[in-house]
Amino acid sequence: MMDVQRDVLETDVLIVGAGPAGLALAHKLAELVAADEALEMPEVLLMDKGSYVGAHSLSGAVMNPRGLAELIPDFKEKGAPLEAEVREDALYLLSEGGAVKAPILPAPLKNHGNYVVSLNKLTGWMAEQVEAAGIDIYAGLAGYDLLVEDGRVAGVQTVDMGLDKDGTPRANYEAGSLIKARVTVLCEGVHGSLTRQALEKIPELAADNLPQSYLTGVKEVWEVPSGRIKAGQVIHSLGWPSKSREYGGGWLYGMSDTMVSIGYAVGLDSTDPTNDPHRKFQRYKNHKLFKEILDGGTMLHYGAKTMPVGGFYSMPRLYHDGLLLCGDSAGMLNAQKLKGIHLAIKSGIVGAETILEALKADDFSSNQLKSYAERFRTSWAGQELHATRNFHAAFESGLWSGLFHAGMQLVTGGKGLFERRPHKHDHEYMLKKNEYKALFGAEPAPAAIKFDNEYTFDKVSDVYKSGTMHEEHQPSHLVIADFDICNNQCTEEYGNPCQHFCPASVYNIVDDTDRPGKTKLELTPSNCVHCKTCDIADPYQVIRWVTPQGGEGPNYTNC
Ligand code: SF4
Repeated sequence: MMDVQRDVLETDVLIVGAGPAGLALAHKLAELVAADEALEMPEVLLMDKGSYVGAHSLSGAVMNPRGLAELIPDFKEKGAPLEAEVREDALYLLSEGGAVKAPILPAPLKNHGNYVVSLNKLTGWMAEQVEAAGIDIYAGLAGYDLLVEDGRVAGVQTVDMGLDKDGTPRANYEAGSLIKARVTVLCEGVHGSLTRQALEKIPELAADNLPQSYLTGVKEVWEVPSGRIKAGQVIHSLGWPSKSREYGGGWLYGMSDTMVSIGYAVGLDSTDPTNDPHRKFQRYKNHKLFKEILDGGTMLHYGAKTMPVGGFYSMPRLYHDGLLLCGDSAGMLNAQKLKGIHLAIKSGIVGAETILEALKADDFSSNQLKSYAERFRTSWAGQELHATRNFHAAFESGLWSGLFHAGMQLVTGGKGLFERRPHKHDHEYMLKKNEYKALFGAEPAPAAIKFDNEYTFDKVSDVYKSGTMHEEHQPSHLVIADFDICNNQCTEEYGNPCQHFCPASVYNIVDDTDRPGKTKLELTPSNCVHCKTCDIADPYQVIRWVTPQGGEGPNYTNC
C-alpha cells in the first residue's frame, strides 16, 4: 500500500452534491447567517463531482414549485429556467397496441400549477443564486471516502487523480485531500457512494428502516416538428412495456411547442434477469401514442438514473454526529407522483435551519442535529411523504392489485389495507433462470427490438448523446469483487443480468479466448452515466460503484 501524504483542508460545513438539496441548504444557510447579526459567515464548502453544476442532474421533470417558492419566493422574477407551466395533463394505461385514458385524474395526480423543467438547467441557475449569496461551489471535486473518526463523521477524502489502471501513480498524480468539517451534509443524489459508506460504517442509520427500492429511469430529449405537442402538455402512463408483475411507467412532457422530454422507468425489484430499462424505453417509444409525436424529429440528449421509491418507511435516520442526509440520498421522493425536487429543496431548507442552531450552540453532535429529523418529519414535505408511505409497497403483487391498493390508500390517508409492508432488497427479487422458467414456463429473454439509430437507439449511440467522458487511464470505478462469480456462477444461474440492466453498455459478455466455448465479462467504464443501477441490481452484490476522477461522467444539458 502506498504511503500517501494528503493535504488537510478544514471547513465548518461540507456539502457533498450540488443538486437541489445541497444548493437549497447552502442558499438558506447564507440567508439565515446574513440575517443574524451575532453570527459570522461560517466556512462552507460545496462540492460536486460533475464537471459543472448540473452535469449530473437528470430528471423527467415536472416540478412542484412549493420548495423553490419557499427558498426563493421571487424565483420567476429572478429568471428561474422554467420550460413551461403544465397546461394539459393525462394518464394512460398502456397495452402494446392500445391506450386507455383515465377519465378523471385523482387530485394527488394532477399537475396543474407545476412546471416542466430541465433539472440540469434549474440546478445551474440555483448555483448562480448560491454564488451570489457568497458561497463558492467546487465542481469537478469528487468525494471518495467518508471519514469516520471515533464514531463521528469527520469529512471526506477526495479522489486521487492521475492513477493508472492498475493504481500506479502517473506523472500527473495528485493525492486526494482530506476535507475535515464540523458537519458533513450528504446530498449526493440517489444511492450515493458516500451515503452507502455512511449506512455501512454507522449501522444505526439504517437500523429501523425498510430496504430502499429503486426504479431506473431512461430518458431522451427530442426536437419535434411543430404541431405535435404543446408546451406544458404532460402525459403519464402505466403498464406496457413492463409486464403486469413489474413496477413501471413512463412520461412525455412538452418542454416547448417543439421540444419533448420522454422517458420510462422500471422497478429494479423485477423477477426477470433480462430486465432492461433501456430496451423497455426504446420499445415504449414505438407505441403509437408517442410515435405520432416523435416520428420525424431528432433525438438530442440521453440520460439515465435511478430513483428511490421505497418512500417514508425506507428513509434512513437523517442525522449522526457530524452528519446530515438530504434529498434523494435520504430517499426523499414521492413515489406516487414520482417527484422529489421540491422535497429535496425543503430538506435543504430545514437542514440549514438545523445547522444555524448547531453553529450557535457550537455543537454538531447527534443530540443537537436530531432536530433536523423532527423538523423534516413535521414539515409539509414530511407529511407529503407520510401520506404516500405505502404507495410502492402496494405494487408488491403486480400492477392490478397495486392499482386497487393505491386507490384504497387515496381514501385512507395513505394507509390502505396494510401498514409498513415488508420489502426485500431489490436484487433479492430476481429469479435464477431455472426458477423463472419453473414459474413462467419459459426461459427469461429480452424482448425483440431492432435499433435503427434514427428512432430507436442502441445503448452506445444513446450514451454518445449524454456527453459522457472518462479518462481511460484510471482504475475502473466499477469494482468487481470476484470475476469468477461473474464468469461462471452468474452466467450459469442468471445469464449475466448486468449486460441487460446497465443502460450504458458498460457490461458486455464476450467470448473467452482462454476458455473455448465459454464467455467472460468485459467492462467499458468510460461509458458509465453514473446511474448506480449495477450497484443496486447485481444479484450477488459483487459490483461496487466508486467515484471516478472528479469532473468525469455525463455532461447533461437540457435534461
Ligand atoms: Fe449505471 Fe452501473 Fe451502467 Fe454505470 S455501469 S451506467 S452506474 S448500470
